[in-house]
Amino acid sequence: MYLGSHMSISGGLHKAFERIRSVDGTALQIFTRNQRQWKIPELTDEMIEQFKEAWKDWGDYPVAAHDSYLINLASPKKDTAEKSLHAFTEEMRRCEALGIPWLVTHPGSHLGKGVDAGIERYVKKLDKAIEDSDTETVTVLLETTAGQGTNLGATFEELAQMLEQSKHGDRLGVCYDTCHTFAAGYDIRTKEAYNKTMDQFDRLIGTDRIGFFHLNDSKPELGDKKDRHEHIGKGAIGKDGFRNLLNDERFSRVGMSLETDKGDDLEEDRMNLSVLRGLIK
Ligand code: MN
Ligand code: MN
Ligand code: ZN
Repeated sequence: MYLGSHMSISGGLHKAFERIRSVDGTALQIFTRNQRQWKIPELTDEMIEQFKEAWKDWGDYPVAAHDSYLINLASPKKDTAEKSLHAFTEEMRRCEALGIPWLVTHPGSHLGKGVDAGIERYVKKLDKAIEDSDTETVTVLLETTAGQGTNLGATFEELAQMLEQSKHGDRLGVCYDTCHTFAAGYDIRTKEAYNKTMDQFDRLIGTDRIGFFHLNDSKPELGDKKDRHEHIGKGAIGKDGFRNLLNDERFSRVGMSLETDKGDDLEEDRMNLSVLRGLIK
């Protein structure tokens, strides 16, 4: 299985591989730049070369990029929408240049304009970004969200609507975040609950469209609609939920990444990965 973590690119993009190797991870997620700024630094040939070299040394394991938190392609504000369009187009180009096949993104917030209007706006801008980016190899993964505020994408129905409305459905998939879906009301704690949730997902979207998983336990309870990650087995989901997921053969070749808190020594990642590995039958 491909189990890993989100790693910092501090010191250079290629440094993420040193970090993931130090915890024996076999899946990686990164931001390709500072995620809290609009400014996008240049990506030089040397940086690309170093990144690909370090990836090769690590192994043939999946890497996903997560886009900037500032981007809101569903924004009804013209200025934010335009800035988001430009930034997301660049995120796609950076992934293609680095050879990263997955770009994980939150499907925006409607900011009071309503779900349907938000989805319509979102899909239009997303399609435009895909076209403007001139990329061919990057698949955009819409992340399941917790449903906080006016965030879109907290129900499988909303995600299905986006995937159907897009003109570029073949370039889209889903990133399933265990904390967010649980907070949004989808239970996976018992075998029955897990099967019900995954059957629902499969019927509305298709489990084969999951390109990446975020493995986070949840501080909030089921349906609380809050996005707060907890260490694996220590939150409201608990080990049984992760056991159900990790032993689902449909996902044995899909990259899975932690997004849980950790210090500079990455000790918490080692702990969480060891808990996860212990759940695989
Ligand atoms: Mn995310
Ligand atoms: Mn996530
Ligand atoms: Zn989260």
